[in-house]
Amino acid sequence: MSTTITTRTTLRSADVTDLPTPEHLRASAALWSLRASLSTLSDREAAEDKAIADERVAAADPLKSPVWGGRQALGGHSDPTTDALLQLTGPVRENRFTPLLEEVTGQLANVAQHLPPAGVTSLVRIVAALPQLSKPAAFSTWQLADRIDSRIRRLLSLPGDRQYVPRVKCPWCDAVSLVMRLEPPQPDRVVECTTCTGAWLWADVAGARP
Ligand SMILES: [Zn+2]
Repeated sequence: MSTTITTRTTLRSADVTDLPTPEHLRASAALWSLRASLSTLSDREAAEDKAIADERVAAADPLKSPVWGGRQALGGHSDPTTDALLQLTGPVRENRFTPLLEEVTGQLANVAQHLPPAGVTSLVRIVAALPQLSKPAAFSTWQLADRIDSRIRRLLSLPGDRQYVPRVKCPWCDAVSLVMRLEPPQPDRVVECTTCTGAWLWADVAGARP
């Protein structure tokens, strides 16, 4: 049995100036998802950097002794420097997360370069500017954020940031095909229809849940 959404207010009516259209809501939701996946990518990249550094040190350790272990015989001055040892261990393994992180960082910087305020991350600037973006610009932002988020989640094998909403009909097209983003915390999550272009804040539909 399906339940039709009856919203607390007119769905994102024209007087709502913060996120005035479904495109803005979808962009906001996609940026939240991207913020989460990008944070994980950054963490994984840093962890991989540390793992590579540890591997290099471990690979250099056997070179210290007994070949280089002349500490007693030569008065402790003959051990090679760590850098010299590391140069003997071959080329550094590449960090598999760095290329995508750098590419994504560059893409977001391109989008944010003309947006205020300076001094914060590109993603924060884009999120802050979203309510003032035109509908086409919000649509492009949504598409870009979703595309980047999907690439990151594929690389990291992260689950998608959406949850099916059972038994609730879309108020626009009547299909039972709503999904809810899992970021940010409720009630600011966005519910999207996968059949039409409708999108709403969870707070606007929560009262209608079965
Ligand atoms: Zn719909």
